[in-house]
Amino acid sequence: MGERQVAAITGWLSAVKNLLFPLSCAVCSCLVSGDDQGICNSCLHDIAYIKTPCCSVCGCEMADSTAGDHLCGNCLRTLPPYAEARAVARYQEPVVTFLHSLKYGGDLTVLPSLERIIRAGKTNHLAADEWIVPVPLHLKRLRQRGFNQAVLLAEILYPNDKERIQVDLLQRVRDTDPQTGLDGTARRKNLRHAFTVSGAGKLQGRSVLLVDDVLTTGSTVSECSRVLLHAGAKAVKVLTLARV
Ligand SMILES: [Zn+2]
Ligand SMILES: [Zn+2]
Repeated sequence: MGERQVAAITGWLSAVKNLLFPLSCAVCSCLVSGDDQGICNSCLHDIAYIKTPCCSVCGCEMADSTAGDHLCGNCLRTLPPYAEARAVARYQEPVVTFLHSLKYGGDLTVLPSLERIIRAGKTNHLAADEWIVPVPLHLKRLRQRGFNQAVLLAEILYPNDKERIQVDLLQRVRDTDPQTGLDGTARRKNLRHAFTVSGAGKLQGRSVLLVDDVLTTGSTVSECSRVLLHAGAKAVKVLTLARV
């Protein structure tokens, strides 16, 4: 069979597949074409992407849209250990449901939608020579879930830099209680001695981009940053899919 015939048959089969199993938007259920898998263009447009101006350190959005990026009150009082944190979107629907289905339902079908949201909202924060470090899960949780959502997100964020994604550099050695429902002080206490760096030699003089799914109070990424800096990292930046 010639190449053209194969292409014709493949095209025909995919048309039949679309007819039998039409793809629909994960949010509004309208029909979408194969290229727009997951979420339709209209729903993609409605995502609450993080807008500037924002705090030049923690990345929170500023109410006064006339000023440029500047330090927020919290960062003016106490600077976090990381140099800057940025997020793609606000932690609102449909991102909340997507992340919830991924983390607690193991539903990998939300990944095309998350990928479209990341492509639409992402600004590139990766500098040359930077390690990409997904916030690790404890081994017990990783075995339960089968994957670390922060690793999946790092791979979607940086498909061309997968060799820079370090999944074993930072390890979660203590299986901490979920942070939900704890206040800032309790969160920090809960995370004490939770992380450790293995192979610190790799870190010397390197900058790190920490990747996680959601930034809530920032206590997890702050604790990770402290451990990474203590182990010799030059600086730590944070990128999350969403921020509360
Ligand atoms: Zn839609
Ligand atoms: Zn700030």
